[in-house]
Amino acid sequence: MVSRVIPVDPFDLVLFGATGDLAQRKILPGLYHRFEVGQMPDKARIIGTARSDMNSDGFRDLLRASMQKFAPDFKADTLDQFLSRVEYVPVDALGDAGWKTLGKSLSDDAVRAFYLSVGPSLFSGIAQRLHDHGMATPDSRIVVEKPFGHDLASAKALNEGLRACFEEHQIYRIDHYLGKETVQNLMALRFANSLFEPLWNSTHVDHVQITVAETVGVEGRGAYYDQSGAMRDMIQNHLVQLLCLTAMEPPSKFSSNAVRDEKVKVIEALEPVAQADIARGQYRTGTGGDGYLDHVDNPASRTESFIALKAHIGNWRWAGVPFYLRTGKRLRARESEIAVFFRDPPHTIFPNVGPLHGNVLVIRLQPDEGITLRTTIKEPGQGGFRLSDVALDMSFADALGDDSQSPDAYERLIMDVIRGDQTLFMRGDEAEAAWAWVDPIIHGWEERGDRPSRYDQGSSGPEEALMLMHRDGRRWRQIGG
Ligand code: NAP
Repeated sequence: MVSRVIPVDPFDLVLFGATGDLAQRKILPGLYHRFEVGQMPDKARIIGTARSDMNSDGFRDLLRASMQKFAPDFKADTLDQFLSRVEYVPVDALGDAGWKTLGKSLSDDAVRAFYLSVGPSLFSGIAQRLHDHGMATPDSRIVVEKPFGHDLASAKALNEGLRACFEEHQIYRIDHYLGKETVQNLMALRFANSLFEPLWNSTHVDHVQITVAETVGVEGRGAYYDQSGAMRDMIQNHLVQLLCLTAMEPPSKFSSNAVRDEKVKVIEALEPVAQADIARGQYRTGTGGDGYLDHVDNPASRTESFIALKAHIGNWRWAGVPFYLRTGKRLRARESEIAVFFRDPPHTIFPNVGPLHGNVLVIRLQPDEGITLRTTIKEPGQGGFRLSDVALDMSFADALGDDSQSPDAYERLIMDVIRGDQTLFMRGDEAEAAWAWVDPIIHGWEERGDRPSRYDQGSSGPEEALMLMHRDGRRWRQIGG
């Protein structure tokens, strides 16, 4: 297999929030890696902006220090060449300072991308000033970070603010989960193979489990996280996106609008979730360290650091098939996967072997991206006919060797922005539809004043999450198993 890096068109990438954590830790090191592999053409430039008063040399020094910390594998002379493409202009996003200088620094014959790595409260103001200063040309792109709103009303307001100055085809709402190799492979697995698609429906699928488990807690982000919680921070965007890619109908072609049309249909078909089908938790203080409440300002906080819920998609393909979603912090392992459980075989011809188990297809996002299919085989050797479950395991690293070293999700997504490919970005109606499903669920527990249950650090979440499955006669896949 040949690794191919196709250089993109010359671009000016204006990075708002360039001194911030995300820019220094992910976006700029990611751009360096694209430069190192030769994807950035000669005329590509990165113009960092923030309020901090410094010149381009000062910004390059800052970035050099960040590279030592976050991407220490860099090559010194390549980094020097990369830094010669990097400039800095101080700009106050909500004031007048810096905008004229920024406008003058842009070239007329390069793709313009404005990356807003700043809080959402700045999105509309920046879009407006880009428009007012004539920088928002019809071919320019604007990229916005998550969170895209706090609820449906705020997402609508953000969409309005952006659309007042940019067309929808210019707006790129990032969900970095969609840039992961396995997520895209899910589409290849489903739509480039004929094996699975005929089975991909309620006749053959018993249920689906989608898990995004983290070992980190909320330390350092407590104040922000406490206003949000697992439902807003993870389910509304990442897990709903994974659910969409698993459940959507085959798009007529692999184009951004065809794919996103199908995803919106899935979200709009999501049924309201009953309270009995939700389990929320907060990790408690324990041997693993401080508890959730130690990191937030409100000692009576009812925000969840864990949530599990059972969703149903009301359409012909998925009627009656539960999609169990689960995500949380300070859990046993860092693990993200989609597991499709096929129905048990209807009849066994093997006497005395007990009930047969259905196949399980697991699409692993992290760690060790790959795909596993649980199958039943005869145990090898003498001593009667015994069956056992084995995993047909395809780790991309083993199967593809160096070619599995795919770019980080951010790197891929930024290059898609330059190429003008929106397939892996959320459309405005998609973000709104997801909030329209999530909002009533949150209102429900807020109105009832529900408290999340406590769970131990290093566990799989609260007891209620296990019960949610047990009641249905099913079990979660073990986290870190
Ligand atoms: P951060 O560390 O607080 O950085 C914010 C950046 O915005 C700084 O460069 C700051 O620089 C700049 N800024 C703030 N107010 C400004 C203004 N009025 N005008 C111009 N620049 C201004 O935040 P972050 O963690 O990088 O996050 C940035 C965005 O990405 C947020 O929307 C966050 O939710 C999202 N995000 C972050 C992560 C992450 O891992 N950090 C992950 C996913 C999404 P000055 O103070 O110098 O102006």
